[in-house]
Amino acid sequence: MADQIQEIKSKVDIVDLVSGYVPLKKAGKNYKALCPFHKEKTPSFMVSPELQIFKCFGCGRGGDIYAFLQEIEGMEFGEALRILAERTGVKLESRRPSPQEEKRKQILEVNSLTKEYFGYILTKHRVGERARDYLNKRGIKKETIETFGLGYAPDSWESLAQFLRSKNYPITALLAAGLVRLRERDKTPYDFFRGRLIFPFFGHNKRIIGFAGRTLGEDEPKYINIGETPAFRKGSFLYGLEQAKTEIKKQNSAIVVEGPFDVISPFQSGTQNIVGSQGTALTLDQIKILKRYTPNISLCYDTDLAGDAAAKRGIDLAEERGLNVKVITLPNEYKDPDEIAQKDAALWKEVVDSAVSVYDFFFSSAFKRHDVAKPLGKKQIAAELLPIIKAIPDEIEREHYVQRLALELEVDEGVVRSAMEKTGRREERGERREEKEVEVKEEKLGLEEYVLALVLHSPLELAQKTLHKLGKGDFGNETTLGLFEELKSYFSGRKRKLDIKALGGKLGGKGKDLLGKIYLWNLGELPGQETKLEEEIEGASRLLKKRGLQRELKNLSLKIKDAELMGDKRTLESAREAFQKVSQQLAKIS
Ligand SMILES: [Zn+2]
Repeated sequence: MADQIQEIKSKVDIVDLVSGYVPLKKAGKNYKALCPFHKEKTPSFMVSPELQIFKCFGCGRGGDIYAFLQEIEGMEFGEALRILAERTGVKLESRRPSPQEEKRKQILEVNSLTKEYFGYILTKHRVGERARDYLNKRGIKKETIETFGLGYAPDSWESLAQFLRSKNYPITALLAAGLVRLRERDKTPYDFFRGRLIFPFFGHNKRIIGFAGRTLGEDEPKYINIGETPAFRKGSFLYGLEQAKTEIKKQNSAIVVEGPFDVISPFQSGTQNIVGSQGTALTLDQIKILKRYTPNISLCYDTDLAGDAAAKRGIDLAEERGLNVKVITLPNEYKDPDEIAQKDAALWKEVVDSAVSVYDFFFSSAFKRHDVAKPLGKKQIAAELLPIIKAIPDEIEREHYVQRLALELEVDEGVVRSAMEKTGRREERGERREEKEVEVKEEKLGLEEYVLALVLHSPLELAQKTLHKLGKGDFGNETTLGLFEELKSYFSGRKRKLDIKALGGKLGGKGKDLLGKIYLWNLGELPGQETKLEEEIEGASRLLKKRGLQRELKNLSLKIKDAELMGDKRTLESAREAFQKVSQQLAKIS
């Protein structure tokens, strides 16, 4: 298999593959383009034909042909492999499944039997009567029960475990599927779902990948889910997708709700392009999956989205990925899609049709909660909406909302515009800070990386001179240190040109990634002339040395403290001496 993965790689040129999706422009030895994975105005997406990799310096995504296809098509590795194999005519030999795949297969079998068992209890057995009544009261019809494979787990400690063991499945398989747990005390097994309505999770080809269970009463927790297993990953699952996907494609839109009943009741009432996100925060994987079927989604959650940071983050992610996000707002007297679809299907359809753009939704929500007649209210509304408006990617759309805000606040447009200048964009404030920080780090090279990038792009002599001057202690990061040492030995005494491919071959995974990153780093901002480059290298190396010395000082002062604490006079003395020496070196550099 590894051979075939390589063979396919050698037959597909990443430049061809990528240019099927984004127009590439030559930039020196590499190509660049506007990144297809995040919104940007100037290109920071680079492709290297030599290394056969891509790298975006805006969002940090990068990798080989498989990684690109997975990312852009939202597919798993296996699927990308299959597609590229077809494209290149490479025959994939069927291989023996790995132990992990064997495990997964067994879990799917166990799950399928479990669905049958719970389904039988719900529809045929007298123990299921309570659950039948319950569904009846909620107006769930027989064919709906069948479509969603609903079931009932009897209120007993080991009926499922006994049933599955009678089918010769070992207890380890039931544990792996998450259907059975072990008692703390004596490690005897008991059923995970007891006295609950069961919602099987349908995966590809209607295979059963997991389950949720709901109480018949109001006791908490209302829902419990199976944990992650080799067959089930929570973040990439959408409840009801298997049942809804044809309709989603046909209507070219998907409605996204929270829980299982919010899917089932509307589905039964005729709205069949509906899926459950299992909570208000859409994950990136869920977004990628939805995007395979449609770019248009309408969110209908129980909570007020405007006050829900997790939901907002999901919306940001979806917009970044190019989805058109709308919001469906329910009339006040209904608490969720389940209720309204049950009680007034016609009204539900009306509500769905009157979904508004996510910006309109944030507008009306802000104006509803604050009093626009009062100065304080105006201020609160502006504070809420300005960062959102500022983040609107489309200029014309953004302008529209600037004008609208000015009009509704009854202030001059100029005032709104200058206030917007001063405000941070939505994602730079609060909720997305963490992710943003990672991105910023990815975007700019760190100092250690920057120095190595300069070396890589220098003429041979300058590269050798710089590497000679630097030492191990100047690098605080393991990966950059590794690359530095590799470069040093590569360039020592060598008079020929840099062979980036050969160099890459010498490095391990992380080092190779780093090499790709700094090799693709857009050096357009660098001075072209050699003298200027030399100045830049000198400045950066000096700063690097300075950082290294500061790091050393910090370590020494810790050592001194420890030695004082322990009363270790000899260590104390030597550490103090070293401290002084390093301080002097640092003073010289500065
Ligand atoms: Zn990007």
